[in-house]
Amino acid sequence: MNPGRSHLKDLDYSVVQQCMHCGLCLPTCPTYDATKLERNSPRGRIALMRAVADGRMEATKAFGDEMYFCLGCLACMTACPAGVNYAELFEHARAEAEQSKALDNPRRSLIRGFTLRWLFMDQRRLHLLGRILGLYQRLGLQTFVRKSGVLRLLPKRLRELEAMTPTVQQEFSADLIAPTTPAAGVKKHRVAVLTGCAQDLIFSDVNRDTVEVLARNGCEVVTPPEQSCCGSLHAHNGEWELAQGLARKNIDQFPPEDFDAIITNAAGCGSHLKHYAKLLAGDPVYEKRAHLWDAKIKDVHEWLAQIGITAPVAEGLREQTVTYHEACHLCHGQKITAQPRAVLKAIPKLKLVEMAESTWCCGSAGIYNIIQPDMATQLLERKLDHITVAGAHTVATGNPGCLLQIQNGARKRGLPMRIVHPITLLAEAYRGGK
Ligand code: SF4
Ligand code: SF4
Repeated sequence: MNPGRSHLKDLDYSVVQQCMHCGLCLPTCPTYDATKLERNSPRGRIALMRAVADGRMEATKAFGDEMYFCLGCLACMTACPAGVNYAELFEHARAEAEQSKALDNPRRSLIRGFTLRWLFMDQRRLHLLGRILGLYQRLGLQTFVRKSGVLRLLPKRLRELEAMTPTVQQEFSADLIAPTTPAAGVKKHRVAVLTGCAQDLIFSDVNRDTVEVLARNGCEVVTPPEQSCCGSLHAHNGEWELAQGLARKNIDQFPPEDFDAIITNAAGCGSHLKHYAKLLAGDPVYEKRAHLWDAKIKDVHEWLAQIGITAPVAEGLREQTVTYHEACHLCHGQKITAQPRAVLKAIPKLKLVEMAESTWCCGSAGIYNIIQPDMATQLLERKLDHITVAGAHTVATGNPGCLLQIQNGARKRGLPMRIVHPITLLAEAYRGGK
């Protein structure tokens, strides 16, 4: 897109006009389900986007608010018989909202400037913040502050946000994973692993498990210690140019020509990483490589199912009952539903029980649970009800946002449950249950 032009007006019109207003997506949309208002539905939102694209409407504050009330869960894309590319529309609509500046206010600009334009643009900054937060937590200061009652002086929303602060890992991915991990046994593939941005701080253990599982399945694994954010946070929040910059950086850091596959274990990242070619369309240097990049990006479950999973031995393993929550950007964004279940079913003595509405959003949705807490809480409560009915002691899910959201909800409700990435369960099985 040309700087200064309109995201929606410049979008390929075949994408803008694809919706045939049938309404089949409406029952699958969590925001429409909650409000029953047309404007909160995919069809309603697409009509607003088209009105802006046609020049019949300005990208007003009401337009921006509606685009940010959408979860971006993409359930509507799964339901749509016309193949409407809502993901593309949604990203351009949020970028249009940002470009119009209709939502701007000093507080919002400050937060966006600090997080999207500064913190998540350089992993070293994120690591520094993570080390400070980790120290605060490990020295017992967080517990002290929480017990002291001083938090009661904060506004309710800030107290809620404080309670959601994730525990930072003592060691990040580069501390746990060698730059190159040899395949266990015969080397059949050479892959790279993306360690993510927030994932690297909060779930570096899942990254270690991912590398271990890949090595057990005949992969030589390259995990560069210096990595960058994939840019999904930026693309989903209207920062198109920043997302493009991060995409170029990733392609340079992980030359797609060098690997059989480039692996991600975070559904939200994977869904975005597979569309760099669209993001970099028209880029004379990167567009061609971006097509190759898109073809090489694999979610870890998808890759394992493709190459065949080496079954762990049953000896030493205990019986466990697990239910599976489908991260939106895995099931709707990437259409990956059978593969994570195949990973779980490969684990001896693991009984998989299905929960109702496994594909319904848990309310995490990137930073949705921070910016739209009421709707996010409604969705979380609904998810926890289904988890409880399923009767499993462990919930498996392949996205860091969902892991955190369900962990927080289960803790608040007092549910004695383990919420874990499927790959961690497989890694534990390879280690004989440890
Ligand atoms: S992305 Fe999700 S919340 Fe947004 S319109 Fe589609 S189904 Fe509804
Ligand atoms: S987005 Fe798809 S399912 Fe929804 S109204 Fe339009 S054509 Fe129908």
